Amino acid sequence: MNNQAEAGVSRAADPACLFCRIVAGEIPAARVHEDDTLIAIRDIAPRAPTHVLFLPREHIVSAAELTRADGSMLGRLFEAAASFARAEGLTDAGYRMVTNVGEWGGQTVGHLHIHLLGGRSMGWPPG
Ligand code: AMP
Ligand code: ZN
Repeated sequence: MNNQAEAGVSRAADPACLFCRIVAGEIPAARVHEDDTLIAIRDIAPRAPTHVLFLPREHIVSAAELTRADGSMLGRLFEAAASFARAEGLTDAGYRMVTNVGEWGGQTVGHLHIHLLGGRSMGWPPG
């Protein structure tokens, strides 16, 4: 037992979590996609011409908590992000998807999300 799911830790909505509150509609956000598994919102402080966050409705702290049982949900997240990128005309030029984990990873909101960044060339490695 070395992670949240296997340990049976609750993934119920956390009233102290910003993204759970956005999922619940308690805090407004610019939603560009939503379905039964996830929502996608425009980042409030965009770092690229297109900067959208794809987050599961379920409260999962970060990618460090994922197990293979999350495969379907993760497929939905990436599919939604790729589909949005295609619709925005980003696919030919390319774009970046990234998820930050913990303090050194640069994570500031403790609810799993994939950043979709596009519309400009990306540097590597990230800072
Ligand atoms: P991270 O730092 O990887 O955890 O990403 C969190 C992202 O959430 C940052 O890029 C923030 O700009 C963004 N963010 C913070 N508050 C909001 C909000 N209320 N609506 C939309 N995006 C937000
Ligand atoms: Zn949450």
